[in-house]
Amino acid sequence: MDAATITSWMHEIDAAMRAERDHLVQLDAAIGDGDHGTNMVRGFEAVTQALAADAGSPPGRLLIISGRTLVSTVGGASGPLWGSALRNAGRVLGDQQTFDGKQLAEVLAAALGAVKDLGTASLGDKTMVDALEPAVNALRERLAARDSTTVALAAAAEAAETGMRATIPLQARKGRASYLGERSVGHQDPGATSTALIIRALQRAVSAPA
Ligand code: ADP
Ligand code: MG
Repeated sequence: MDAATITSWMHEIDAAMRAERDHLVQLDAAIGDGDHGTNMVRGFEAVTQALAADAGSPPGRLLIISGRTLVSTVGGASGPLWGSALRNAGRVLGDQQTFDGKQLAEVLAAALGAVKDLGTASLGDKTMVDALEPAVNALRERLAARDSTTVALAAAAEAAETGMRATIPLQARKGRASYLGERSVGHQDPGATSTALIIRALQRAVSAPA
C-alpha cells in the first residue's frame, strides 16, 4: 500500500458520502440538526480536490492534508473529529512511501485515539466511536491471526457496521443527540453510520487498487 491507496480511499469515501448523503441527513434530522450528510459531502469533496493539487506526497502527508482540509471545510462536530483523526493517522506513517497491514492498523488506531481524545466519547455513548473502535479491534485481531490485509479489512468493515447498528437502542451521551436524552433511543447514530462507510471505503481502496 502507498500514496495511491490513500488517494483511492478518499475518492471511495467521497463517492460513498454522495451516495448516502440523504440517508445521513435523515439520520441526523432525527436526533441532531440534519447537516451530517451535507457536512461529510462538503468535506470529502474538498479533500479530493486538495489531494488532486498535491500529487507526489507520501501517504502520511496525504492523510495530514486530508485531515486539515476537513477541519477547515466542515463546521459540524464531525469535521474537527475526523480532521484530527486523519492528521493523527498521517503522523504514524511519517515520510514512508509504503506501509503494510500492521501499520494500517496503527494508522486507524491513531485515528480512533484522536477522536476519543478530542470528543471524550467511549464505546456505547452512541457516537462514531461505536463504529471505529470495533473496526480497529477487528483489524488488529485478524492481522494477529495472520489473515491477509484484505480479509482483515472485510472483518473490520463488518465490525463497524455491526457497531453502527448497535447504536440504535443506545441513549446518546455525547454530541448534539445527547441533548435529546431518552428521545435519542431508537435511532441509528449518523456519525457511526458515516464511519462504517469510511471503513468500507478503505476495504474497497485496498482490495481493488485503482
Ligand atoms: P453536529 O453534531 O455538530 O451537527 P455532525 O452532524 O456532522 O455534527 O456530526 C454528528 C455526529 O458526530 C454524531 O452522530 C456523532 O457520531 C459524532 N459526534 C458528536 N459528538 C461527538 C463526540 N464528542 N465524540 C465522538 N463523536 C461525536
Ligand atoms: Mg449535525
